[in-house]
Amino acid sequence: MARVVIMGAGVAGHTAALYLKKQLGKAHDVIVVTPNSQWNWIPSNIWVGVGKMQQKQVLFALAPLYKRKGIEYHQALARVLRPEGDGDDATPSIEIEYTDPKRKGETARLHYDYLVNATGPKLNFNATPGLGPDQDGGTVSVCTADHATHAASALAEAIAKMKAGERQTLVIGTGHGTCTCEGAAFEYVFNVEHEVREAGVRDLAEIIYFTNEYELGDFGVGGMLFNQKGFQTTSKMWTESLFRERGVRPIVRAHPHRIEDGIIHYETLDGAHHELPFDFAMLLPPFRGADLVAYDREGNDISDRLFAANGMMKVDADYAPKAYEEWKAADWPKTYRSPHYDNIWAPGIAFAPPHPISVPHTSPNGTVITPAPPRTGMPAGIMGKIVADTITDRIKNPGRPDHEASMAAMGSACIASAGTGLTTGSAASMTMYPTVPDHEKYPDNNGRHRSFTSGEIGLAGHWIKALLHFGFIYKMKARPFWWLIPE
Ligand SMILES: Cc1cc2nc3c(=O)[nH]c(=O)nc-3n(C[C@H](O)[C@H](O)[C@H](O)COP(=O)(O)OP(=O)(O)OC[C@H]3O[C@@H](n4cnc5c(N)ncnc54)[C@H](O)[C@@H]3O)c2cc1C
Repeated sequence: MARVVIMGAGVAGHTAALYLKKQLGKAHDVIVVTPNSQWNWIPSNIWVGVGKMQQKQVLFALAPLYKRKGIEYHQALARVLRPEGDGDDATPSIEIEYTDPKRKGETARLHYDYLVNATGPKLNFNATPGLGPDQDGGTVSVCTADHATHAASALAEAIAKMKAGERQTLVIGTGHGTCTCEGAAFEYVFNVEHEVREAGVRDLAEIIYFTNEYELGDFGVGGMLFNQKGFQTTSKMWTESLFRERGVRPIVRAHPHRIEDGIIHYETLDGAHHELPFDFAMLLPPFRGADLVAYDREGNDISDRLFAANGMMKVDADYAPKAYEEWKAADWPKTYRSPHYDNIWAPGIAFAPPHPISVPHTSPNGTVITPAPPRTGMPAGIMGKIVADTITDRIKNPGRPDHEASMAAMGSACIASAGTGLTTGSAASMTMYPTVPDHEKYPDNNGRHRSFTSGEIGLAGHWIKALLHFGFIYKMKARPFWWLIPE
């Protein structure tokens, strides 16, 4: 009997767990370690963050689902990896610390034959003093369901003040020069603008999109050339036009270095320093890897070998430092397997990208102001699935090659949908293929396929987003025939 341990039940880890159990059956153990009792469909936190959805609509309990599926579940944080075992015991293991209220603080050791590190991002609010709901600068976040609920009540307060005739400055964007997930900030600004308009107070709101992107439409993927009904446009022009239409003022190339008493202190790429007072601000944190440490069998710290400086796990990517002009699609990982341990994988946000996708920029003061590469839900799900397939083959069909899914051969979609009604919503939808541009394959379209890279506005995108919400939650709840719904 093989033991597969999965650290993290988000998009990648939960997908891997469900497929592993389906493919391995009762003959092998699938064990999940994750700190939360509930699974969260994070993309719909945006709707929770404007009060259009309740927390309970984006969350479901993991324990009953794992019990039904025969997956062993530990509500705990993984802390330590011992990939070579320890002392006299050569069996690889991890050490965990329970967050389950009944066992809080207790520790345990879990042995494994195969390990999946799907711990996603650590929300690194502390990178910017004052940033986030747990510091005192006054900004909110929509990264978790709790954060989003808090953001919704802060937004409702701002709307109430406007209804009482008070002008409000609403800032939405990135809380550090190296943030990723600009698509989420873009979607949230779109939703906030919609809410304020619906509340009849649009004229009293100054809405600012505040970003580390070099120009609008970069989205951490270096921008896109869109095919729109036979015409070409850039994601920059497309986003600029959307913002102009909705009266959203952009501030680009910005790195907030401190948030204090309702003021964002920030530096721009030209090295200048500025202050931006706000009444409501939703600023995303930068991401880093989970706080994991690793030891070899003798007890020496080998964390540097397994993890990059940002705490994300090194996998089968080319991490050799290179100039931007030398970046290649082939630098990106395909199997997400650790180069050091043949039985460890890191799908989703947990893997260390080899380099950004956007052109890197540094201010004259040495501040890096460059979006980190996004790894959205669809790629995270696909990576979780192929890692499950690889492990299944290792156990049932040894000798087969690892399954592959490079972000340079995988598309992404971002749907910024506002409103939740079937007839009243609207959406700005982008698709790109591949996510990591391949300039050798698509030299004349900025590294992407001409027909599969597009930007559209309209109600249809809104329906797709709503469908994704219900479809993914259905799949993740492992309802009948869940596996027929693609990642
Ligand atoms: C506000 C917001 C909106 C978004 N909107 C979209 C969208 O519209 N479309 C889209 O495709 N993507 C969207 N994304 C991105 C999407 O949510 C991520 O791509 C996806 O969640 C990444 O999956 P993951 O499994 O790598 O990480 P996660 O889903 O974050 O899962 C990581 C899991 O690991 C757990 N964990 C952390 N540390 C440990 C530890 N030490 N031990 C054990 N477990 C641990 C976490 O609790 C979590 O359960 C959005 C993201 C945000 C923040």
